[in-house]
Amino acid sequence: MRIAVFILVIESVYVSSATPSQQKSFHGHKVLDILPRTESELKSILNLIEEYELDVWYEPKNLNDSLHVHVEPEKLGQVLSHLKKLGSEVKVWIENVQKLIDGSFTPEDNLQRRVIMQRSLNLNKTYYNYSEIMTYLDYVQENARGVHVSQQVIGQSVKGRDLRVLKVSRSSNSAKKAIIIDGGIHAREWISLASVIWMMDKLVFNPRNDPDVKKLLKKFDFYLIPVLNPDGYEFSRTNDRLWRKNRRINSGSNCVGVDLNRNFDYKWNPNRGGSRNPCSTVYSGTRALSEPESAALASFINSLMGVDNGGRVQAYLNIHSYGQYWLYPWGFTTAYPVDRLDLDNLAQVAVTAIQKVNGKRFTVGSSRNVLYLAAGGSDDYAKGSAGVKYSYTLELRDTGAYGFVLPEKQILPACEETWAGVKAFALALAKS
Ligand SMILES: [Zn+2]
Repeated sequence: MRIAVFILVIESVYVSSATPSQQKSFHGHKVLDILPRTESELKSILNLIEEYELDVWYEPKNLNDSLHVHVEPEKLGQVLSHLKKLGSEVKVWIENVQKLIDGSFTPEDNLQRRVIMQRSLNLNKTYYNYSEIMTYLDYVQENARGVHVSQQVIGQSVKGRDLRVLKVSRSSNSAKKAIIIDGGIHAREWISLASVIWMMDKLVFNPRNDPDVKKLLKKFDFYLIPVLNPDGYEFSRTNDRLWRKNRRINSGSNCVGVDLNRNFDYKWNPNRGGSRNPCSTVYSGTRALSEPESAALASFINSLMGVDNGGRVQAYLNIHSYGQYWLYPWGFTTAYPVDRLDLDNLAQVAVTAIQKVNGKRFTVGSSRNVLYLAAGGSDDYAKGSAGVKYSYTLELRDTGAYGFVLPEKQILPACEETWAGVKAFALALAKS
């Protein structure tokens, strides 16, 4: 395995570090596991979640699948008594969220981390901040040999951070069929960003050692967007580990942020798995594509699909955690896409490859399910509006033991299995 090595200018990297006092504490916060047995029970539970502005960690994908919801200590008594009235089956899934967070990542002011950073960027050792990741993109571009790497800024976040795309291709000006992969649309899903950076490293520095990568670059250009929601990601690092949305200041509300994955312009509908309440963690925004981050991605996909580009995008992968799923559209309706079988077949190839690495089982399915709809997702947009045939949402590790707070020691196995899945998927796509 090759580890990329480069020197970082430490002073410029730590300007955004927060003092520990800025960090929101999650002491006494719990995650409940609720098992809704009927559709009407689920509806009542969802109403309760909306009423108390609770944060859903995991949505049930099937009947007899449970819901994980994060509850603040001051709301716990009331929420539990409501659930009791509904007769719901409830257990405490995570006893103390802060305990889970403690020790799950190396703080930026940790001396040991600085020493490691000075020597190298060990991709699999820690979760890097936005500025470190951007430095790494420049490093990749400058040090690529035998493959062509270019960067493009496709827009800016609400707070003005660049949204960068890194293109990996066999030669310059390549205009092959394209695969777009993005990470970090939801701020707290850190493993998603780490996995995209890992893929970048494998594509750029591995073609000589890995004949599969060589094959893939003969067929495809890869467009990788490691940080789609940089403001949210930085906020989740410095202030609130469980932040999900972007950092939009919502007019007329004290609550910040829009859920970018409810903001896309295909069948946008806050009443379907989103919300019109700016305080909700799934706030859909004032209108479709109201956010610069989602608008930038939408226009980037469209530009590669437009007449000048001849509909180049064959696949779009939107990477999240957690739950271990490889999902295809639609999120907005219970209906399946007409080419469901094609999407299902390639997803099966991917999850089989994933399981071979560390034994982790991923489930293939459609984002929609009998119980839970979510409109305004980027996967629905890529397929429904832009016309990308193979559009998927990946939910990486785990199944809830750590949830969003996947510890650093799992970065390596998570990245390895995800890469195996993506590679197998792309090889199968090349043959399709
Ligand atoms: Zn997500």
